[in-house]
Amino acid sequence: MGARVLLVEDEAAIADFLADNLRQDDHHVHTVGGVGEAVAALERIRPDVTLIDVGLPDGSGFELCRQIRGGAAGNPEVGVIMLTARAEEQDRVRGFDRGADDYVVKPFHYPELLGRINALATRLGGGRRSDQLVVGPIEIDVRGRAVQVGGTPLQLPAKEFDLLVALAREPFRVHSKVELMERVWGYSIPTATRTLDSHASRLRRRIEECAATTERFVINHWGVGYALRGGGQ
Ligand code: CA
Repeated sequence: MGARVLLVEDEAAIADFLADNLRQDDHHVHTVGGVGEAVAALERIRPDVTLIDVGLPDGSGFELCRQIRGGAAGNPEVGVIMLTARAEEQDRVRGFDRGADDYVVKPFHYPELLGRINALATRLGGGRRSDQLVVGPIEIDVRGRAVQVGGTPLQLPAKEFDLLVALAREPFRVHSKVELMERVWGYSIPTATRTLDSHASRLRRRIEECAATTERFVINHWGVGYALRGGGQ
């Protein structure tokens, strides 16, 4: 499909590696090394997705994200994925507060980053909705409300099924608890996420039992939210 990707990264080795790989995967990539250049490029290139390193020579990637969402740089609706070397959850939360769509912590796995870019580009590109979702060994027939894991049928209660679909529409992405509550239960009370947590942990156990593996598919990002991955990472 080929998304327009603006990469804001001052480390040449990382920037070159990412740009080379993303081009091979059919994306159009423009690379800049700082906040100032990024602001100019956002106007000029109108990217679909922006990858922003947190530590930039002329400012913070978080600050750039805030400027974008505030309408001070390019299209406020552009997809934003933060690249951070700092794995502390507080940094992730801070980034979500400032409007990032997603996070990748360095050192990252390229296939995972690619998956997140593709998912975000698809979501922003009019949200083409598929009735068949496949994430690793997990196959979901959304309309038929049926799930198979490695070919074995898995029966799920309604809310656990809805939660799985919400996660599977954008695999790898960390979905915040607030977002999942709104999507699955139709409301969000910040203090009432225990319901979500218990559904997520039951869903995780059922998938693992069905897959007959100790591999984790439903990933709990403590204090932030959940992600679904296909294993093998
Ligand atoms: Ca940096």
